[in-house]
Amino acid sequence: MKFTLFALSTALLGANAFQPSTFGVRPVMQLQSTATETKAFPKLPASVKPGVVTGKALEDLLNHAKDKGFAMPGVNIVGSNSINACMEAAKVYGGPIMVTFSKGGGAYIAGKAADNTDDAASIAGCIAGAKHVREVAKLYGVPVILHTDHCQKAWLPWIDGLLEASEEYYKLHGEPLFSSHMLDLSEEPLEENIAICKEYMEKFAKVDILLEFELGVTGGEEDGVDNSDVDSSRLYTQPEEVMYAYEQLSQVPNAMFTCAASFGNVHGVYAPGNVDLQPVILHNTQKYMQEKLGGEAKPMKFVFHGGSGSSVDDIQYAIEAGVIKMNIDTDTQWAYWDGIRKYEAEHHDYLQGQIGNPDGAEIPNKKYYDPRMALRSGEEAMRDRLIQSAKDLKCTDVL
Ligand SMILES: [Zn+2]
Repeated sequence: MKFTLFALSTALLGANAFQPSTFGVRPVMQLQSTATETKAFPKLPASVKPGVVTGKALEDLLNHAKDKGFAMPGVNIVGSNSINACMEAAKVYGGPIMVTFSKGGGAYIAGKAADNTDDAASIAGCIAGAKHVREVAKLYGVPVILHTDHCQKAWLPWIDGLLEASEEYYKLHGEPLFSSHMLDLSEEPLEENIAICKEYMEKFAKVDILLEFELGVTGGEEDGVDNSDVDSSRLYTQPEEVMYAYEQLSQVPNAMFTCAASFGNVHGVYAPGNVDLQPVILHNTQKYMQEKLGGEAKPMKFVFHGGSGSSVDDIQYAIEAGVIKMNIDTDTQWAYWDGIRKYEAEHHDYLQGQIGNPDGAEIPNKKYYDPRMALRSGEEAMRDRLIQSAKDLKCTDVL
């Protein structure tokens, strides 16, 4: 199935512990592919292949990133243009990428006029986007993770719809449609947050989906959720809270999870001095957990939300504490727009009418106003910004 998404105007301005499966018997093809493992990427675990990565391969990839000390960009997308910019960037920087669908981004992909009753458009748009990635990802020769962003309690029916799609996909292909989902129940009391996460972890684990959960609150505003007035103590997660979540989720057979802990991180970009990032919280939490568990160093895999505007030193210090993914949205939103802005500025006099430009009153301008021209400029700028992010995250040349 092919589809085309044009995402010019409003998207750019307006619209972020594995064991074998118990979910029935895997299809024969899956068994054969794991039995005759040839290494697709010299520097990555043998289970990781080009294209969408799920299940055991995903767990191997994230553990590898934690061991080697790099994090991958997790990028919010709004259509095929931004999806392709992600994969193009990964191909250039030579590393994995996480393509992230938000609930609003999914609805945008389905189209602004699509009926979104009961999240129908959000669900359909995310599935359509995921299928686009699955059709083309292999052509870029990089590992791609299909993920979804913040889902608060009231939004769970959106994830229920996506889980249903993954369960169907699993029956046919032996793996889920999506690699992972985030649940952000950090507005709820800790026990309720983790109880709901555990309930979903049980459903996810049956189809090899990884859970990203949130503790504490990421400040700022994103995708219509405004946390800019939240009590500042909630912006810093306690080690005991992470340990509690780890113990609870580890009780689920086949559980795979990552933790979005708060360490002063904020969605959006603010003037210097307004963000007090404390990645040392992640280091202290890992030490606390290792003492309690008595096993490996850095037992938890962390993810970093609200990294836009952080210093490279802070980012890399957070990676040393076991951060394996950093979300990127604000900076790529700006980059995409900036690419289009520059295109218009450069070709302004050729973009004022269908006919007539500085070269002559009767010369047609079709090759300038073809939507692909401006959109491609957006893609290129987004690609270049992501290559910079990958350098900051030490995710270059890791394949
Ligand atoms: Zn976030």
